[in-house]
Amino acid sequence: MANVILEKIAKHYPGNDKPTVNDLNLSINDGEFMVFVGPSGCGKSTVLRMIAGLINTTSGKMLINGKDITDLPPKDRGISMVFQNYALFPHLDVYENISFGLSIRKTDKKEIDKRVNDAAELLGITDFLRKKPKNLSGGQRQRVAVGRAIVRRPKVFLFDEPLSNLDAKMRTQMRVEISKLHKKLKTTIIYVTHDQCEAMTMADRMVVLNNGIIQQCGAPSEIYSSPKNIFVATFIGSPPMNLFKGEIIREDDRLFFKINNTALMLPLKFSGALKDETCDYTLGIRPEHIYLDERKSDDMTFSEAIDCEIELAESMGNDVSLHCKAQGLEFQSNQRHDFPIKTGDRIKLVFAIDKLHLFDKNGDSVL
Ligand code: ADP
Repeated sequence: MANVILEKIAKHYPGNDKPTVNDLNLSINDGEFMVFVGPSGCGKSTVLRMIAGLINTTSGKMLINGKDITDLPPKDRGISMVFQNYALFPHLDVYENISFGLSIRKTDKKEIDKRVNDAAELLGITDFLRKKPKNLSGGQRQRVAVGRAIVRRPKVFLFDEPLSNLDAKMRTQMRVEISKLHKKLKTTIIYVTHDQCEAMTMADRMVVLNNGIIQQCGAPSEIYSSPKNIFVATFIGSPPMNLFKGEIIREDDRLFFKINNTALMLPLKFSGALKDETCDYTLGIRPEHIYLDERKSDDMTFSEAIDCEIELAESMGNDVSLHCKAQGLEFQSNQRHDFPIKTGDRIKLVFAIDKLHLFDKNGDSVL
């Protein structure tokens, strides 16, 4: 069990114009499942590889349980890493792959046997122990890779995009298995993915990374409901948050947001947060916070009804995603499938006022 502290860690690869990771500060709690999520190339794997000791840091310090590990070799850091490509030895069977790290450390044979069998049982791979990796499915190979990490009883598990090579069904299954495993083992996990769905479902807390800089760190629900900037607002959520550029208008003590010919009332919570009302702002609303006028509930405040044309209705089983056009606005709205809507229909939609987000000219949330 361990906490991990990253103090101003940076990585500047030789030959690159800019650092890939820039003065990153983060404290990961003992037993926490921390997920790094961000687009390809944002520096997630670089952070993980620095923690693992596979690459050195350009500057900064890393601590595990208060001990400075910055310059320690990988084997002395108390970490185990699971890679995207499984990194199994093809000529060794499952048992030998899982036990390999223990054998080279000259662990007692009985102890090895116990640990391998316990891990195999935990991961449901007992029946495959004498098979070679080539005779296993992708999901089974990934379980072997996890087993190899578990038997070393590390203080911290590092996962680098472990599910990216699996098909969609197996990805969902392994996601649940890794989450259950974490609940059982309670070991600190640092997990890297570009998949927001993995991040949202697995993380205790997640870091949204872009250009090697932390954009936001928090519980998934907090990041979803209160994104700190436009990058986070549009990276997390599918379909992404709708954004509209426009201007603020104050009438008496009421606040409106004017986009072309449409004026939407803003909640008063924004009123005191506006530093300069004359500059351009961006209004955001998630597709599920745009409701059918005839289905709006009494317990929320809504905008005036907007008469929309449905340019495209995409059915997604339970839900339908509507691409709407209205009064110079274009946006997406998600509705339950039980309401019959098809491409070309005209419908009236309302925005849930309390669910609006407002971003300043730098893209930062005003709240
Ligand atoms: P991510 O895991 O978020 O996809 P990476 O950490 O793998 O991103 O890479 C971040 C950036 O660092 C990329 O632009 C990549 O080209 C660059 N990079 C990664 N490894 C090296 C390296 N060994 N030498 C130079 N540049 C590298």
